[in-house]
Amino acid sequence: MNISILGAGAMGSLFGGLLAESGQKVRLLDIDERHLEAIRRQGLRLETDSSDRRIDGLAACRPEQAPGHADLLLVFTKTLHTEPALRSAAGHIGAQTLVLTLQNGLGNAEAVSRHVARERVLIGMTNWPADLLGPGHVRSHGEGVVRVLGLEGGASRGASQVAQVLDGAGLQCRVDRDVWTSIWEKVAFNAALNSLCAASGCTVGQLGAAPEGVALARHMVLEVLAVARAAGVAVDEQRCLDSVAFAMANHRDHKPSMLQDVLAGRATEIGAINGEVLARARQAGIAVPHTETLLGLLRLIEARM
Ligand code: NAD
Repeated sequence: MNISILGAGAMGSLFGGLLAESGQKVRLLDIDERHLEAIRRQGLRLETDSSDRRIDGLAACRPEQAPGHADLLLVFTKTLHTEPALRSAAGHIGAQTLVLTLQNGLGNAEAVSRHVARERVLIGMTNWPADLLGPGHVRSHGEGVVRVLGLEGGASRGASQVAQVLDGAGLQCRVDRDVWTSIWEKVAFNAALNSLCAASGCTVGQLGAAPEGVALARHMVLEVLAVARAAGVAVDEQRCLDSVAFAMANHRDHKPSMLQDVLAGRATEIGAINGEVLARARQAGIAVPHTETLLGLLRLIEARM
């Protein structure tokens, strides 16, 4: 497959690198010139638990410079950059191009559908972890899975083909008819840990060590899951609470991406997480006071940056 990755930061580089190693033809599309140049000059450096290696053969350029049409475009910008990124990649999206978003949060399917016919949009969730350590250098500790589904066609031929290709790269991917359950449960997890850590400055472990942190995280999970149920999505409360508790106990030093964004003075993905949950809660007539307060706090933090 001719695969292009739109937004080749931490996750895009990890996925692009593994796909290239598995024999796919991969092009990384980004606007970070230093990162693109480093990959063109010396390949991608990928550090995992088991190895530290260089991956060659990746093409790397700005989205508007990508030649021809991709068979698959994998969107991995932060959610707040989806719109301009897809606009600049418009010439690379042909009548047969499948577009897959594995970004966190809600509203991604709608954002992609503004640029691509819904029959060619694939949605999904991944919990693979990745960090960009510098230009051309990505690290991923631990393991994850990928779940995908066609937005319109469900388990369509396109979804199966894409799942097979990602699975063949070792990304543990399968088509999942209950993908919305995975997406919403990850939103609950992120709404709890990302927004609370970003607003408080706490690491995940510090949040878990304070009774107030544990109680607030629980409120967040319950609010998000109430909205998910109102949207007709079956979610598992205990599974979500357990994954939050697991992270608090085992990923104590972790600074969630939204906290890293605040510390670096960057805008966060709060709009795609708390913002989208609040919008859906209002439509359903559900009160989500903790979600709304944290959204307001993060907007204030962003405003003063
Ligand atoms: P990142 O910031 O490392 O990478 C985003 C990349 O997009 C950057 O390299 C940036 O230069 C690029 N970009 C910005 N504007 C662009 C544009 N107009 N055109 C092309 N590229 C552009 O972010 P990330 O950590 O890789 O996260 C990507 C998405 O995946 C987010 O939605 C995130 O929530 C989600 N996610 C992240 C992780 C993780 O562990 N990092 C895990 C699961 C899901």
